[in-house]
Order: sequence, then structure tokens, then C-alpha cells
Amino acid sequence: MSRPLLVSACLLGLLTRYDGASKGHAGVMEWLRRHQRIPVPVCPEQLAGLPTPRSRTFFQGGDGMGVHEGRSQVISEQGDDRSGLFLRGARETLKIARLCGCDEALLKERSPSCGVHQVYCGEERISGLGVTTALLKSRGIAVFSEEDLDRMNP
Ligand code: SF4
Repeated sequence: MSRPLLVSACLLGLLTRYDGASKGHAGVMEWLRRHQRIPVPVCPEQLAGLPTPRSRTFFQGGDGMGVHEGRSQVISEQGDDRSGLFLRGARETLKIARLCGCDEALLKERSPSCGVHQVYCGEERISGLGVTTALLKSRGIAVFSEEDLDRMNP
């Protein structure tokens, strides 16, 4: 039986990005089709209650794990602290993963919510996790990005 896979909504062509666009990814769609996996689309930032379009955000002082531990923040372009909302979006995403029985996720690389290997701290690209990725991983969900498709189990 086909297993559900939590997927960043923007990778599936949904218009959820901060700028109101998508990041539809042909390789992701092909991988899902080839392996007959059922995508469960989630956008943690919309689940947080943020609007679309919305301000661009970036980390200050660390990555998404640091936000959970109170060591870093998610800051908007206007300088507002969005950490609480990003934590809310992460928790809502985890609820959906559990409701749908997802033990794996495929998330958008370098997003402050969904980044898997890298995120932006200010304008600098650093190794680190998005806020949602950090929570999912800490709860035993395996998280991959669109750049890991060749390493994922069908
Ligand atoms: S929060 Fe994740 S799913 Fe939503 S637009 Fe950003 S990268 Fe895509």
C-alpha cells in the first residue's frame, strides 16, 4: 500500500511562498509518481496564520533548532520577531504528520521553516535546520529536501 509523505506545499506547485509564488519541482512530482507515494501538502507558515504574500524572514543568532531552544529568532524584513508564529506552524505541521501517519517528510531546502541542510542567517547561508524541520526530526520523522531525492527510500 502506498505510504503518505509530508511535502512542502510550494514544492507541489501550490502558491504558498512568501512572495505568493510556488516552487513547483518537476523532479519531486516525478519521484512521487514513480514511487506511487501520496503527498500530504503542508505549509507551516500558512498553518501559523501568516498571510500570503508575507514578509521575507531569516534567522538571527542560529537556526530553527536554536529557535526551539530559545537561542535564536526568526526575524522579518521589517525587524519583527516571528519566532512564536514559526513555532506554532511547526506544531501544526507535526499534528498533520501524525494525523496522516507520515513518518517521512520532503521539505523545501533553505526555507526558515522547511530548510533541511541549510538556512539563511541574515544574508548568510549556513548549515542548519528550519523551525519545522527541527521539530519533525526531534519527533522521529525522517526529513529530506528536494535535493535528496536520490537518497530517499521509495
Ligand atoms: S513554509 Fe515551507 S511550504 Fe510554506 S512556502 Fe515556505 S518552504 Fe514552502
